[in-house]
Amino acid sequence: MGSEVLLSGILVIILGLCVGSFLNVVICRFPKGESIVFPSSHCPICKYPIKAYDNIPILSWIILKGKCRKCNCRIPLRYPVIELTTGMLFGIQYFLYLKNFSSNLELIPLFIFVSVLYSQSVIDIETQMLPFSLSLFGIFTGLLWALFRNTWWDYYLACAAGFAIMGMIGLVGKYIYKKEAMGGGDLVFAAFLGSFLGVKNMVTALFIAFFVSGIFAIFFLVSGMKGRKDEFPLGPFLALGGFLSQPFMNISEGLRKYFGF
Ligand SMILES: [Zn+2]
Repeated sequence: MGSEVLLSGILVIILGLCVGSFLNVVICRFPKGESIVFPSSHCPICKYPIKAYDNIPILSWIILKGKCRKCNCRIPLRYPVIELTTGMLFGIQYFLYLKNFSSNLELIPLFIFVSVLYSQSVIDIETQMLPFSLSLFGIFTGLLWALFRNTWWDYYLACAAGFAIMGMIGLVGKYIYKKEAMGGGDLVFAAFLGSFLGVKNMVTALFIAFFVSGIFAIFFLVSGMKGRKDEFPLGPFLALGGFLSQPFMNISEGLRKYFGF
């Protein structure tokens, strides 16, 4: 690996840390329908505006020992953790797709994709919601980006197909369980996956999502941590499918070539 690649990788991770800091704001404010721009970052307890020098990803949290400079209240560990994990996700995506890029500009839609996937997962775990507005922003970006890709129609088709497939699974689930099995948020989120992944990878993503969530559901039921009637957020699993679909396809393609079938 050339030193140039390594240097850009480090820059990408730093960019990820800063985007993670922004995702903290998105995760807090989007479910409440608040603006993500105004007011600027402030302490959730004393409302004291956070100065730029206290807003450096991870470092500020460590320097302030996880406390607000003004009122000394605890700043949840979640903030630096989301910054760190976003940085890592950006780094992983960068090195994973390095070979596919002809220009660094292609990283921008990829990072928007990862950012929406990640913030929607955390929002779904915390609030059992997948805000439409965030998914729609993702769909808009995905469909716009598709126009610059070779088979643009594949992403438009996948966007509609993601919505339709989840809708049909939801209807079957409703028929079997006699209650709403799938939220509207899941449908729009699947459409978002399609708009970035295309049909083949979107179907793979849904397959991964249902397979892994099925394993988790069985684990939660058997361990007694959740009952049969409990809500089970699908968003994080859809996001996982979105992250893994391309590497999964690459690996299965490799195996197929290796074994010659
Ligand atoms: Zn404070």
